[in-house]
Amino acid sequence: AILVSRRVKSRRKWNRMVGVLGEFEEGCSTSIGRLRQVVDAMDVEMHAGLASEGGSKLKMLLTFIDNLPNGNEKGNYYVLDLGGTNFRILRLQLGDERSMILRHDVEQPIPPAFMTSTSEDLFDFIASSLEQFVEREANSSDLPLVKRRELGFTFSFPVKQTSVSSGILIKWTKGFSIEDMVGKDVAECLQQAMIKRGLDMRVAALVNDTVGTLALGHYHDEDTVAAVIIGTGTNACYVERTDAIIKCQGLLTNSGGMVVNMEWGNFWSSHLPRTSYDVDLDTDSPNPNDQARGFEKMISGMYLGDIVRRVILSMSHELDILGMLLLVIGTLYLENLCGPVVNYRIWKLDDPYELHSSASLFHRKWRTPLMAVMHEDDSPDLREVARILKDTLKIPDVPLKVRKLIVKVCDVVTRRAARLAAAGIVGILKKIGRDGSSGIMSGRTKNGGESSGKMRRTVVAIEGGLYVRYSMFREYLNEAVAEILGEEIAPHVILRVSEDGSGIGAALLAASHSSPSVDSVS
Ligand code: BGC
Ligand code: MG
Repeated sequence: AILVSRRVKSRRKWNRMVGVLGEFEEGCSTSIGRLRQVVDAMDVEMHAGLASEGGSKLKMLLTFIDNLPNGNEKGNYYVLDLGGTNFRILRLQLGDERSMILRHDVEQPIPPAFMTSTSEDLFDFIASSLEQFVEREANSSDLPLVKRRELGFTFSFPVKQTSVSSGILIKWTKGFSIEDMVGKDVAECLQQAMIKRGLDMRVAALVNDTVGTLALGHYHDEDTVAAVIIGTGTNACYVERTDAIIKCQGLLTNSGGMVVNMEWGNFWSSHLPRTSYDVDLDTDSPNPNDQARGFEKMISGMYLGDIVRRVILSMSHELDILGMLLLVIGTLYLENLCGPVVNYRIWKLDDPYELHSSASLFHRKWRTPLMAVMHEDDSPDLREVARILKDTLKIPDVPLKVRKLIVKVCDVVTRRAARLAAAGIVGILKKIGRDGSSGIMSGRTKNGGESSGKMRRTVVAIEGGLYVRYSMFREYLNEAVAEILGEEIAPHVILRVSEDGSGIGAALLAASHSSPSVDSVS
């Protein structure tokens, strides 16, 4: 009788745990109806952000880029790519037969200390890396010499551009917090640091990573009208007609258009499926505020693992003591895998100084690849999940049914993220009339002929680890875009990976915006 009652008890606990998951899944619902609401909200917010400064959570930042690369770019260019996690330096040779990367530094993690210190420290570190790069290059005689070193600077944070090559940091995201930098001209900071070191380099273009991605996408395919990044952070940019940028009246460009950096990480709508875990994550995040970066917190790599961790922790409360211990230990280890420490709050309360530096916490602990591997384990006995739990997290013998639940949590979190990003993309297409909702449009076909009754071919360039390296994420996103657009329109919209766009694209833009062309100076 005791045995039976124990079994009943543990069955009940198990059911409660499954219930926690079920409730979470329901809260994450991204039905097609809801996705359509998000599409509409994105469209509305885009209009509002273009109408007036501060008119929307979407900043809709001007880039001063009115012409995208077309293949005529020539010369040698350098790129400095400062993203959310890594930092790298490239040198590219553009033109002739094919553009190519001549040499590059290994992508290296930004030392966490520099992410929260002073702008001087950060830029001095960057300038010294540039200096080393140039020195090494001078020692290898096989590279063509350049008279004047022109630099494309990819800076993946919200910047209010004052020209193609200058702009002011609006705020930090993705775990960076260097207070004295906000409000400063980013290119100027770099220029000063380079001058200090006697480096003869000039920032020819200061671009957001989405803009670099759009540039490379357009270089390969002229039907590319928008670009999206889904990595540590998330964002999108697209080509807007200047007359639609109402907040900047009289804006004139040769092409009649301009690339707009949406900063969609900050998008918010009451239609977003938000759960209590999202609310808690927000409260504990380095940038807490009900809605601040609400979209990014549901979509990007910096946060997904932490949502998973929170749900698993909550499920573990329902387990019997042994199982609970197992899962709590598991989550303690899981922190190394995908999120901040479990007793984050206690730790925060204990040490106010640490609270200040907690900005980098989310960031450093996140490892998307492991979450992806667990999620994508298709062996019937979830061998990979078991292996990660055992080898990386040091918890042996997690029962198969618990492993299944862990995979399910990853799936729910990833699916919601991918589908919301998909809705965002269709929102942009809607804004520029490429979603088919204003009737099937007439437009030019690929070979230039008029084709009334035909929807125009539309390409969206995508970059970022979640899309490029996490195939479940990619599949969910592609599927959702097709689902929202419907079978008639979907075939005309192509999502295309623009790998390395944030780097190569910046070189292309430096080339089309530097005068005179470096190679013609000789
Ligand atoms: C930044 C954007 C950037 C995106 C992807 C966001 O956190 O605000 O500027 O494009 O991450 O890197
Ligand atoms: Mg990047």
